[in-house]
Amino acid sequence: MLNIVIFGPPGAGKGTQSEKILRHYNLAHISTGDLLRAERAAGSELGKAAEAYINQGQLVPDEVVIGMVHNFIAHNQGKAGFIFDGFPRTVKQAESLDEMLLGFQTTIQVVLGLEVEEDELVKRLLLRGKTSGRVDDQDESTIRNRFREYQAKTMPLSDFYKAQGKYRDIMGIGEVEDIFSALCTEIDQVKVAGV
Ligand code: ADP
Repeated sequence: MLNIVIFGPPGAGKGTQSEKILRHYNLAHISTGDLLRAERAAGSELGKAAEAYINQGQLVPDEVVIGMVHNFIAHNQGKAGFIFDGFPRTVKQAESLDEMLLGFQTTIQVVLGLEVEEDELVKRLLLRGKTSGRVDDQDESTIRNRFREYQAKTMPLSDFYKAQGKYRDIMGIGEVEDIFSALCTEIDQVKVAGV
């Protein structure tokens, strides 16, 4: 199997690149943001509980997202692998993911970190907020909150994956197609190495 984590701050292009990667490599897409928004749209208890966190730009509690991801993996066996987008976002989530994948006799092969500076990210998110309908993209203070959460809780994950020798940095500014081909180069290297 080919399991990839796409990593980076809000607005870095994880969703856009994930869509291209999953088509190219026939992977199942796990976006915890999308799954949480779907729960909210369905009016489930989980969705209602998550809404306040999301709208304030805070992370949803680990147990909630970990359970959701476990279900998704269990119900999507038979694909060539998974692309994890917006998950893991904490060290606890990353440790749980390692355990979960071990239970399915597989592992993460590569973590692709998209690098974009903060001012560019704020611009992109505010622009997206005009059409996405996402409350958390419409207000600059919520966006700044998401960056603070990212820096405090998610950034340390790059060290977690560097220690495993799986982390690769990719410049997330430029043409979508150029960034995609830089990502494919990294993915193809791990495929050839057969790790
Ligand atoms: P972005 O990457 O632009 O912030 P996402 O759609 O990935 O957008 O996430 C939107 C919100 O959903 C986050 O700000 C957070 O509140 C919640 N969320 C998504 N994934 C996770 C996760 N793995 N752990 C905790 N909260 C999450």
